[in-house]
Amino acid sequence: MNTFSVKAFGTEAPEAALNQMQIDRREVTANDVEIDILYCGVCHSDLHTARNEWGGTIYPNVPGHEIVGKVSKIGTEVTKYKIGDLVGVGCLVDSCRTCDSCREGLEQYCENGNVQTYNGQDKHLHHQTFGGYSERIVVDQDFVLKIPSNLNLAGTAPLLCAGITTYSPLKHWKVGPGKKVGIVGIGGLGHMGVKIAKAMGAHTVVITTSASKIADAKRLGADEVILSTDREQMQKNAGTLHFILDCVSAQHDINAYLSLLRRDGSLTLVGAPEHPLPVAAFSLIPGRKSFSGSMIGGIKETQEMLDFCGQHDITSDIEMIRMEQINGAYERLLKGDVKYRFVIDMASLKEN
Ligand code: NAP
Ligand code: ZN
Ligand code: ZN
Repeated sequence: MNTFSVKAFGTEAPEAALNQMQIDRREVTANDVEIDILYCGVCHSDLHTARNEWGGTIYPNVPGHEIVGKVSKIGTEVTKYKIGDLVGVGCLVDSCRTCDSCREGLEQYCENGNVQTYNGQDKHLHHQTFGGYSERIVVDQDFVLKIPSNLNLAGTAPLLCAGITTYSPLKHWKVGPGKKVGIVGIGGLGHMGVKIAKAMGAHTVVITTSASKIADAKRLGADEVILSTDREQMQKNAGTLHFILDCVSAQHDINAYLSLLRRDGSLTLVGAPEHPLPVAAFSLIPGRKSFSGSMIGGIKETQEMLDFCGQHDITSDIEMIRMEQINGAYERLLKGDVKYRFVIDMASLKEN
C-alpha cells in the first residue's frame, strides 16, 4: 500500500510529553477522502489515552478526534465529497458494517470492534490509527461528516466528540420539554450538554464543583445552577431531576448525584474516570433509579447532531491554542481550567 509522511504531535510513553513526529498516512484508495486538517479539539479522552490511564494505549500515540478540515484529494469511487469541501471526522474511522449495531447506524457499538480515530487498529496499514493532531488524515467517505455552512469552523470541531457524546444520550433518554435535566461537570462535554439540552427544550440544571462557572452556566443556557460542594444546595434539590448526564473526568461520589434524581430517573455516565465509581444499592433501590453509560454516537446521528447545531446556531466556546502548547493545555485540563474547549490551530504545526 502506498503511503506518505505527515507531521504530527504525539507521545512515545505514558509519562512523556507530546512532541512533533512523522507518521504515515495511506494514499487514498477508491472510497477515501484525504483531509487537510484545519482545527482539532482537545478532548479529555486524548489525555486519558496519551497517559494510558485506561490501559491499552499503543505507542507512539497521536491523539485528536475532533477534526475539521478541507478535502484535499478523493478516491475514484468517492461520491459524497469533492475537493475543497469543509468536512469533519469524529471518534470513528471504520467499523465492520455488517453486525446488527452497524446496520442500525450504531457503529460505536460495533460487535466486531469499531476502528477509533486514534489508538484503533488501522485495517489498511495494520498498525495503530493516528488522530487529528496532524497535518492530514485519510478516511473512508462513509465516516466523514458534512459541516453546516453557517457554523464557525474552529467552534465546530468539538461537536465531533463533545457534541455527539452529549446529544446521543440526551436524545436516547428523551430529554425535551417538560423534563428537568442535570448536567454534571462543565468542561468540554458538559458545556455542550447544557447548550444541546436547552435547545431540545428541557429545563436545564448545571451541577458544578466550580463557583467560578456559575455565571457562565447561565450564559450557556442553564435555568438553574447547583454548586455540588454545597451540601445545603444538594439537599434542597434532592429528588428533582428526571435525567442526569455525568460528564466528569475524575473520581467523584456518584451517590451524591443519584440523590438528585426523581423516581424512575436515570443517571448516565459519559465521563470515564480512570478508577471504578462505587454505587450504593440504596442510592438506586428507593425510587427505582437507573445508572447507565453511553458512548459517543453513530455516523448517522453525528450528522443529525451537526445539522441540529447548524439549525440552532450552536458551537463550542473555545480557547484556540498552537500545537506546541498542547502539554500545557493538558495540565490546565486537569485543573478544570478551560472555557470550555481547547482547539488547536493546525496551521501552527504546518509552520514548524
Ligand atoms: P473536561 O473538559 O476536562 O471536563 C471535565 C469536567 O469535570 C471539569 O470541567 C469539571 O467540571 C468536572 N470535574 C473534574 N474533576 C472533578 C471532580 N473531582 N469532581 C467533580 N467534578 C469534576 O473533560 P471532557 O473532555 O469534557 O471529558 C469528560 C469525560 O468524558 C472524560 O473522562 C472523557 O474521557 C469522557 N468522554 C467520554 C466519551 C464517551 O463516549 N462516553 C466521549 C468523550 C469524552 P466542574 O468544574 O463544572 O465541576
Ligand atoms: Zn472525545
Ligand atoms: Zn459492526
